[in-house]
Amino acid sequence: MCRHLAYLGPAVSPAELLIEPPYGLYRQSWAPRLQRHGTVNVDGFGLGWYVEGDPQPVRYRRAVPIWADENLTDLARAIRSTALLAAVRSATPGTSADESAAAPYRGEGWLFSHNGALGGWPSAAAPLAELLTPGELLELAARCDSALIWALLRRRLAAGEEVGCALAATVTEVAAHTEARLNLLVTDGHLIAATTWGDTLFHRLELGHSVLVASEPGDDGPGWIPVPDRSVLLATPDAVTIRPLDPSAAP
Ligand code: GLN
Repeated sequence: MCRHLAYLGPAVSPAELLIEPPYGLYRQSWAPRLQRHGTVNVDGFGLGWYVEGDPQPVRYRRAVPIWADENLTDLARAIRSTALLAAVRSATPGTSADESAAAPYRGEGWLFSHNGALGGWPSAAAPLAELLTPGELLELAARCDSALIWALLRRRLAAGEEVGCALAATVTEVAAHTEARLNLLVTDGHLIAATTWGDTLFHRLELGHSVLVASEPGDDGPGWIPVPDRSVLLATPDAVTIRPLDPSAAP
């Protein structure tokens, strides 16, 4: 399982968001405090962020542990963005080890991260792959369970489905086919949307200012609110809404 985080608000640097918090995503790479599956997240990492005037987010992804990238600490001080998504990876066995499988995945202006795994990968996931067209399979971003989930979600987003409905429907679709843990996280630079399905998630809203959504709190300060398991969350700096993810209600 990975740890992931998304932020919307006044421009900040990845250093402020990921590295400086005492229990931030950087440290969660080797010492997560609340992770339910796996112990460390050293199979790669990635950041994605939005640049003003460009709907296509920028990514920086590596297949090494986040602390093993000598250049990241400098880079993280130089970037500033109002919208950022980042993840540290603990690879599902049998998936690609290269940076193609490091979140965030990207498409249709969205950034995507998956904290979780498809049980019995890859054989048990074969029925899910059959839901994809040959073209979608050929374009799979990586040989990875998360890439398969992203392809299923992405087609819904590309079709214009509302993101909360698209996330709920994707979780339902995947869970109907195979045992899975499905904490999904996306942003388009204006809205953060996430699911909880098997692991922890928190949000911290500074109303009218900023919002953080993260697998676990980056500090012991106030304001971190746990998100119940099996929920869909929608967040902007102006509001956070959480509703139960009811598999029987989704299409
Ligand atoms: N299953 C994914 C991967 O292998 C997600 C990471 C995780 O939560 N372990 O990259």
